[in-house]
Amino acid sequence: MYLKNIKAHGFKSFADKIDLEITKGITAIVGPNGSGKSNVVDAVRWVLGEQSIKALRGNNGMTDVIFSGSDSRQSQNRAVVSLTFDNSDHYLNSEFNEIEIKRVVYRTGENDYYLNNTKVRLKDITDLFIDSGAGKESFNIISQGAVGNVINNKPEERRTIFEEAAGVLKYKKRKEESLKKLDKTKENISKIQLVIDELIKTLEPLKEQNKLAKQYLQLKEDLEATEVSLIVKDIKDLNVNYQQHQNQVDLLKEQIDRLSNISATEQSNIEKNKLKSLKLDDEISKINEELLALSEEITSLETQKNILYERQKYQSEDSVLTQNILYTKEQISKIQNQIKTIEKDKQYYSQKLQQTIVNQNQLLMEIENFQKNKLEITNEMNTNNKNIQSCQNLISINKSNIENNSRLPHAVKSIITNNRLSGIHNTIGNLISIPSEYNNAIDIALGNNTNTIVVDDTESAKKAIEYLKKNSLGRATFFPINIIKSKKILPEILQKIENIKGFIGIASNLIKFDQKYRNIIENQLGNIIVVNTIDDLNNIAREINYQYRVVTLSGEIQYTGGAISGGTSNIISSIKEKHLLEKNEEQLLDLETIKTKLEQKMQDNENKLQVLLKEKDDNNSKIITYKEQTAQKEIRINDCKSELTKLNSELVNVESQLNHTIDNTLNDIIENLSQKIALKNQKANFLHQLKDEKNELFNQITDLENIVRQKNNKYNQHQQELKQKEIELNKIDNRLDNLLLTLNENYAMTFEKAEKLFPNYENVNETDRIKVIDLKNSISKLGMVNLGAPAEYERINTRYEFLISQQEDLTKSSEELMALITEMDTIMVDKFQKTFTKIQEEFSTVFKQLFKGGKGILKLTNPDDILHTGVEIIAEPPGKKLNSIALLSGGEKTLTAIALLFAILNIKPVPFCILDEVEAALDEANVDTFGKYLESKKNNSQFILITHKKKSMEYADVLYGITMQESGVSKLVSVKLEN
Ligand code: ATP
Repeated sequence: MYLKNIKAHGFKSFADKIDLEITKGITAIVGPNGSGKSNVVDAVRWVLGEQSIKALRGNNGMTDVIFSGSDSRQSQNRAVVSLTFDNSDHYLNSEFNEIEIKRVVYRTGENDYYLNNTKVRLKDITDLFIDSGAGKESFNIISQGAVGNVINNKPEERRTIFEEAAGVLKYKKRKEESLKKLDKTKENISKIQLVIDELIKTLEPLKEQNKLAKQYLQLKEDLEATEVSLIVKDIKDLNVNYQQHQNQVDLLKEQIDRLSNISATEQSNIEKNKLKSLKLDDEISKINEELLALSEEITSLETQKNILYERQKYQSEDSVLTQNILYTKEQISKIQNQIKTIEKDKQYYSQKLQQTIVNQNQLLMEIENFQKNKLEITNEMNTNNKNIQSCQNLISINKSNIENNSRLPHAVKSIITNNRLSGIHNTIGNLISIPSEYNNAIDIALGNNTNTIVVDDTESAKKAIEYLKKNSLGRATFFPINIIKSKKILPEILQKIENIKGFIGIASNLIKFDQKYRNIIENQLGNIIVVNTIDDLNNIAREINYQYRVVTLSGEIQYTGGAISGGTSNIISSIKEKHLLEKNEEQLLDLETIKTKLEQKMQDNENKLQVLLKEKDDNNSKIITYKEQTAQKEIRINDCKSELTKLNSELVNVESQLNHTIDNTLNDIIENLSQKIALKNQKANFLHQLKDEKNELFNQITDLENIVRQKNNKYNQHQQELKQKEIELNKIDNRLDNLLLTLNENYAMTFEKAEKLFPNYENVNETDRIKVIDLKNSISKLGMVNLGAPAEYERINTRYEFLISQQEDLTKSSEELMALITEMDTIMVDKFQKTFTKIQEEFSTVFKQLFKGGKGILKLTNPDDILHTGVEIIAEPPGKKLNSIALLSGGEKTLTAIALLFAILNIKPVPFCILDEVEAALDEANVDTFGKYLESKKNNSQFILITHKKKSMEYADVLYGITMQESGVSKLVSVKLEN
């Protein structure tokens, strides 16, 4: 690398732009005092990044370097200096073959650096030149008077040039940066520690509160899961219970209605009969009165007759005969009356018999009907019982199939029933609950995936598959919860079809499942549309352009793209099995209701039948009685008739013996008497009949009253039962209300929501009630709980952990920095030590060459502390004793310093070296020695020499003059060497 040129414009006295071409070898710059030669050195130092205005011979700030104006020229607003290097040997660590560095400062104080016209930071420039031997601190720029400093500086200040030569400056700089970083890091660590200390004070009590709150929330969650499940189960059970009670209440009301209707009819029959009975009483008492009157009349007629008899006994000779005639006539009249009465009786009984027979025939028909009914009901009951039995059988088959997972493929069953496999949930079919109306649709929509097994993750699936393979159990499909994503119908499409006739919903919204399976259920059913009929399916599928599957309630399905599948299938899936169980249970309930109704019907029929049978028996005995009575009356009529015939012939016989007629009055009396007697008998018979009739009525009333009493008892019993049932119904209602209220007040849930959120309510049992009490006790034992604690604890703990990790990071980086510093120290010690030893030797040689004898020695002031040791120079010019260098002459000091400079340059050659009047104090002979030495080294380094010495100029390859023709502005002139 070498320096190709120096350009300056507006820098110090360079108001006009100067362009100083530098060649390899020695370039000398000459000129009168104050013309601006040293400003070139300043310019180079400045562009390399000098920050000290003092080092640049300024006072106030960096703007001091800007041309400040002169008598003839105005001040300028900026100073620009650039250096161009040939870097084709890539001495500088850059890919560029030519490197131009430029620094610009503006009056405003802005300061820019450029590297090949790209704006860069000062650090980029410094880094580029560090340890190149051309940095701003480098020993390659020796300013005016600085050579003296080498001698005059303290040993500790002097070590800098050795460091530069040893190439440790970059380490030193990095070490300084590292130390700064270390300080900053340590400061940060202690700042963080303060915050951590503060946080710990808040965190400790919060930790306790957080633990408590979490415990509370966990207990609450458990309580909610258990209590809500119990409530849902209780509500469901109570609803069934309520329905059963309601059915019983309805039945009882129906029975009560019927009983009260029947009782009313019977009551009115009783009343009618009682009225009849009263009428009979009237008639009986009337007849009794008539009988009494007749008896009196008969007695009076008897008396008259007896008187007439007595009179006739003495008046008539044939009194005995007459007596006989009269008696016989009396008898004949009596018998004639008797016959009339008996015939009336016979007629009465025969009528009664006819009526009863008609009645009995009707009764028999009715009985036959009731018996037919009984048979029919019995048949119905038998059929119903058979149905109940077969329904119960089906239910137990369904239950056993569900319990034993019989509808699942063998492989699937062997996985879900294996307790040793972990992370296995169940099949999709077993994890959902489907309202019966959607069963077909969901079954078809899921298809074979009904039997897909839901698992925690791929690991669980992998283990299950290994198990299947190992035991040759077949194949199964798995859905890992952590992987399967949900699928949905685009909202715009959903909006489009929602109001179309026949649209029912999205399959996943129509079923119940645990929310943790949402992704899986939606993956399977989230994009399937359920519709009513096949016509709706056609409409909607067309509307959505066959983008999604559509399924009808009866199971026809339209696949994406347009294929339709339908018909029936004999395969029973686990879903269908559950559906069948539900249907069978519903049917069983219906059948049991029918059974109760049939039993009731049977009971009613039987009651009526029994009444009719009793009536039939009664009628039979009546018929027998009436027949007997009719027969008896017939016999008696015949007896009376033969008696009459006998009496008539007797009368004819007696009358033939007696030829006069009997007294007409007596005859009339006898006639009248026999008529009255006949009438009395007739009335007595009638009375007898009426009494019979009344007795019969009385019996009927008693029977009816018994029936009414029985029915009333039943009615009251039913009323009692009804009251009981209604109280129970009310209790159930209240319990339901309370449960719903608890759901609402304690958990802000409706029953539907609770049922959806806790679909496993069917699995809760009685021990869960104890669990609820235990959980409530545990919660109340916790006392006051700060529910904000977990969030607050989380927030503060996150900060605490963040700070701890930050502190750890910082501690780690501080340790790394320390290690780095130690490593750099080791490198620096090593490099410094080696370089110093070399320079020490070289100095001794160069000293001898420049002084042409004598002794120059370099010594470390503190060899034990290489990092800080100073360097002492001991010089012994020829013939002189080793002495303090302070005592050397000015020229000797300069030569000693130059010897050190050259020794260093020999050990660590620099690309270019600017020497500003370093040889000013030397005499001509020594300047010549200096010049010669320079010449011997000019192939290793470029030398830019600012000098007044002609001897020095003689060794220059190029000579520049700096003048100040125009007052205050430096000008560059090239000087012909010959001149
Ligand atoms: P000598 O031979 O005496 O060492 P020199 O040639 O090295 O002299 P310099 O020290 O380089 O001279 O230049 C000093 C000159 O530069 C002075 O005249 C000074 O006024 C001028 N100068 C310094 N800074 C500025 C500035 N900011 N604006 C204008 N001129 C400046």
